Amino acid sequence: MDLLIKNAKVLTMNESMDIIENGSITVRDDKIYYVSKEGVVPPDFSSANTIDAKGKLVMPGLINTHTHAAMSLLRNYADDMPLEKWLFEKMFPTEDKFTGEDVYWGAMLSIVEMIRTGTTTFADMYFFMEEVARAVEETGIRANLSRGLQCFDEQFDAETDKRLNEAKELFNNWNGKADGRIRVYLGPHSIYTCVPDYLREAANLAKELGTGIHIHLLETQKEAKDSIRNFGCTGVEHCLKLGVFDVPVIAAHCVHLSDNDLEILVKKKVSAAHNPGSNLKLGSGIARLPEMLSKGLNVCLGTDGAASNNNLDMFEEIRLSGLISKGFHLNPTLIDANEAVRMAVSNGAKALGIQDEVGVIRAGMKADLMIVDTNRVNYIPKNNVVSALAYSSNSLDVETVIVNGKVLMEGGQLKTIDEEKVIYQVEKRVKQLSGK
Ligand SMILES: [Zn+2]
Repeated sequence: MDLLIKNAKVLTMNESMDIIENGSITVRDDKIYYVSKEGVVPPDFSSANTIDAKGKLVMPGLINTHTHAAMSLLRNYADDMPLEKWLFEKMFPTEDKFTGEDVYWGAMLSIVEMIRTGTTTFADMYFFMEEVARAVEETGIRANLSRGLQCFDEQFDAETDKRLNEAKELFNNWNGKADGRIRVYLGPHSIYTCVPDYLREAANLAKELGTGIHIHLLETQKEAKDSIRNFGCTGVEHCLKLGVFDVPVIAAHCVHLSDNDLEILVKKKVSAAHNPGSNLKLGSGIARLPEMLSKGLNVCLGTDGAASNNNLDMFEEIRLSGLISKGFHLNPTLIDANEAVRMAVSNGAKALGIQDEVGVIRAGMKADLMIVDTNRVNYIPKNNVVSALAYSSNSLDVETVIVNGKVLMEGGQLKTIDEEKVIYQVEKRVKQLSGK
């Protein structure tokens, strides 16, 4: 169906960050059909379906490049603990009790939160991923999905390994599905949860399937030290040796990089998913963001799971990414507003290999858009809209979200999800899981 958005301020997110003051965008089927500076509507266009965005901002939707959607079931469940203790004593044992249905409803809860806060694509690593795929298909959001892989057994058999087989199945069943909104990567969890041969096997499988890898990398100092002790090299060098970087890679965190690590990541065109909220909350450290960007590394943003953040609000990550770097380095010129917003949109699209489809408002691109109500008081006076996004915005000012040409939220009303039902199901299941 045709859709017209008129009277909007349009942040195109093209190379030169062009802004159209009184623009209109016409959407046909899943794509942006025409972008006009003077409110021109193509003559063959039926504008029955019109959104008046007067005084508001239209821009590409945000891209959350690292999360574990169903972990929202564990939001505020175990906090203020070191990562290893948190993961091995709290997260893994509780997650072992999850059923496929639990994961489905946890993913639905996260998708509600993501749509409400302007995220149109997310990259997810977890288990029962067929259920996450089902949630993505039904709700209309776009996603990059990976079955999380881990193996502590040196004697594993790749042919019969349950997780590797599920990953293959997920790829065969879902890659390119849901009108092309779903891509499937492989998700070896990390260098400390996968024995080296298993990691090599995952890399080989990714090559064989012609897909990419989503992995956690050098999140904590402990991981960095253990890598030197156990493998005699840094985590990045370890992945390089095992062939992990021979395919497109989203490497989450990359907090503890050496100079050589940084060079390797740039050379191998790895994308680093920076998760400032999670890194701060788990006391993991502060990534070398200014250097990562100045060396030419593609850095995108992620929230991580809602158990370690504890929300999926990408506006918060945009703000944190800039503020931490400025404060830590005593230098307010680092990570300007343009750079911070770019990480959440263009760099995210590049990290997921979908930069030719989303991340820019231009005719022919997929219509993944959000409308932010910039008439609200925190945007006044309207001096600089990119600064407003980075420093004075609030994710709840997102009022309309469109993915693949379909309106998923309009004026704050979700169109594809029964939010009350999702909350009811989540509350019920969490009570059952905790034995109450
Ligand atoms: Zn993570």
